[in-house]
Amino acid sequence: MQFVILDLEWNNVYGKKIKGFFNEIIEIGAVKLDEKLNICDEFTCLINAQVGKTLRSNTKEITHLTNEDLKKGIAFSKAASMFKKWLDNDEDTIIMSWGDGDIRTLVDNCKYFGCGETIPFLNKYADLQKYFQRMVKSENKQQIGLKNAAEMVGINSENMSFHRALDDSRVSALCFKKVYDEKILKEYIYECNDDFYKRLRYKVKVISFIKNPLVDKSYLTYKCEKCGGKAKQLTNWKYSNQYFCSNYYCPKCDYGVKVMVRFRKMYDSTEIKKIIKPLLKIEEPIEKAAEKSGE
Ligand SMILES: [Zn+2]
Repeated sequence: MQFVILDLEWNNVYGKKIKGFFNEIIEIGAVKLDEKLNICDEFTCLINAQVGKTLRSNTKEITHLTNEDLKKGIAFSKAASMFKKWLDNDEDTIIMSWGDGDIRTLVDNCKYFGCGETIPFLNKYADLQKYFQRMVKSENKQQIGLKNAAEMVGINSENMSFHRALDDSRVSALCFKKVYDEKILKEYIYECNDDFYKRLRYKVKVISFIKNPLVDKSYLTYKCEKCGGKAKQLTNWKYSNQYFCSNYYCPKCDYGVKVMVRFRKMYDSTEIKKIIKPLLKIEEPIEKAAEKSGE
């Protein structure tokens, strides 16, 4: 078993072949780890971009790469086969990346440049960012960027240039070593089979129709959080910006809230998020609202 940490840089371009935008890979960087999780080998390669002949200004800004740099690169398909060769034993390799964006981009590029529907060198994969967040017990659902992660575990990254593929994979490797736990990591390693790609291609959908059978009505309720008593519903549930929203009021506590519930259809589950915000001002006269709900 060997660990390889991969990082890509890309340029967002319009692909005529797919009649849409996609991220064209412009650089591949990776590090291989030994048993002690130290870097024992490195891979770096610039890609001579075929679709976007010129870099977008934000790509230039982020990566500090120039159009001249890319001209020295090689075609993506050649880089992919060189990378496979570099892995040496790809069947026994666990590839990791900071977030699964790199893997999604690889799938798109492999397809676009005729290397197949799947990634030819990917057999086992772990999302290092997801694993890291679990290990540092981040309550925040928001994803941790690599730079912040490095700071969190006390890695001095002053001399590193973030957003270059090799440097990013080096920093990722240092972060990985700091939070390594063989048993927990196992939960994050996926076999890259059909199911893996189906999950990867799956697009999360927000449910906007309240009568959708996936809307669990038991979440569309509110009990006063101060007294635990029944609160009056002031407004009907209304869909707005991903959330079903309704205002509630507890007369006993003279306390009003806006209840927001979002239902998202995931690959094989429904994800529910409920937010409760105090109402600063009860806009509707309560008596009138109470009458309405009694109709
Ligand atoms: Zn109350």
